[in-house]
Amino acid sequence: MMPDANSSGKGKNLMKVIKIGGGCLNGQKTIARIVDLIEQRAKGHIVVVSALNGITDALIEGMQQALADETAIAGIMSRIKAKHTNVARHLIVSRQALNDFNKDLSKSMFKLERLFYGLNFTREITPRLADVISSYGERLCAQLLTRVLRSRKVNAVCRMPHHMGMVTDGKFNDATANLPRTEKNLARHIPPLLDAQTVLFIPGFFGVSESGDITTFGRGGSDYSAAVVAATTGAESLEIWKDVDGFMSADPRLEPEAELISALSYEEAAELAYFGAKILHARCVEPARTRKLTIAIKNTLHPEADGSLISANAPKSPRTVKSVAHDTDIAVVKVHASGVGARPGILAQVATAVAGVGVNIRSVITSQTCISLLISRKDVAASRSALVAMAPRPYRRIEVRDDVALIAIVGDGLLKRAGIAAQCFAAVAACNVNVEMISFGPSRAALYFLTKGKDLQKAISAIHSRFFSSPRCLPPGVGGP
Ligand code: ASP
Ligand code: MG
Repeated sequence: MMPDANSSGKGKNLMKVIKIGGGCLNGQKTIARIVDLIEQRAKGHIVVVSALNGITDALIEGMQQALADETAIAGIMSRIKAKHTNVARHLIVSRQALNDFNKDLSKSMFKLERLFYGLNFTREITPRLADVISSYGERLCAQLLTRVLRSRKVNAVCRMPHHMGMVTDGKFNDATANLPRTEKNLARHIPPLLDAQTVLFIPGFFGVSESGDITTFGRGGSDYSAAVVAATTGAESLEIWKDVDGFMSADPRLEPEAELISALSYEEAAELAYFGAKILHARCVEPARTRKLTIAIKNTLHPEADGSLISANAPKSPRTVKSVAHDTDIAVVKVHASGVGARPGILAQVATAVAGVGVNIRSVITSQTCISLLISRKDVAASRSALVAMAPRPYRRIEVRDDVALIAIVGDGLLKRAGIAAQCFAAVAACNVNVEMISFGPSRAALYFLTKGKDLQKAISAIHSRFFSSPRCLPPGVGGP
């Protein structure tokens, strides 16, 4: 059961922050169900929302279209508008609230249109403009849901992050919240707004820099927003409402026997978020951990189910390994050079060149003769050209591997417990899958390695059965976990 919103304990803040993902905000029927849930469970709480499904993509693609062709702007605007008016027409049940929403919408559309024209006129998508434009999906969604709830006679209010002082470090598209400043500002704004009967909507995904610029937290960043709001308002917990049950012991599309993980530590959740399990934004754990805030993943299709609970005192699993995650969006750029370990500065030079073209290096593995950079596949071309352009070249040869997949086994205490790695690799070897590269040690809770992409399914299922169920292809003589 979710805790009752209104059973306010004396002196104790039972306020929750609930985050509603864009995946749930898809189609009138689904949205209507979410609105029912909000009405039943969110009074007295803060609801941080994502954009309606597909809107952020439409805004981001819209920028490219608007840059190339001014006449595309009218179409982009009307598609975004139609998505919201369709939902509004069906779900806002009073004429007054519908009129109010239409006024909100016209104002926002007017501003958004000017931003698109500005972009076309200046022939440039600056990071500043890109962040403002992409923040509109969340703004519109929060306004829409506020009007829907009001039309049902629920006391709903909406406040924008930049009006409340959700302060960031100003880094466009990858901002970090300034927690102490935000805490101070929210302490002034929120308590007067929120009583036991009120639902307070806040758009996720962005905050505002000291100098007043809208700055987003990167794609999927509404989870992070919600964690920031929860951490800085002293909320009792953070609930992330999604359309899945929570973290699983493997991707159920690859492993039919995957089980729900009911309790995780912050470190386990962060590793799993990072390694491809698209349940949570990887940085969402940071603010939660600093305040020992419990995060509950809840499925809106089964709201009574417990989901996955992430907390400071997650019970240790007797199995040690909690999940086998994977990521297929991975490529390796191998930079061959002699004596890597003995040449000061070479790693920094190579990493600086690649990072300098905006590529996020996801991991680095080095040996005496080679630096292997793990990056997203979309970044291969840019990384290669950045390295080729280095003068003088500090390396002999570059090699790119994009036929690989990354597998991670995650669980607290992995590093300390003898034999876990051996069991994992024995299971993989028993299925005749070759392990290409291993990294073990940087995190206390994860071991990761690469295999050929075509071997992914085989390897996942071998490891999963090794740690979670009856072994399927285990070599003789390897004991149980
Ligand atoms: N709407 C933004 C995105 O799609 C943020 C979010 O949904 O968390 O990336
Ligand atoms: Mg989204």
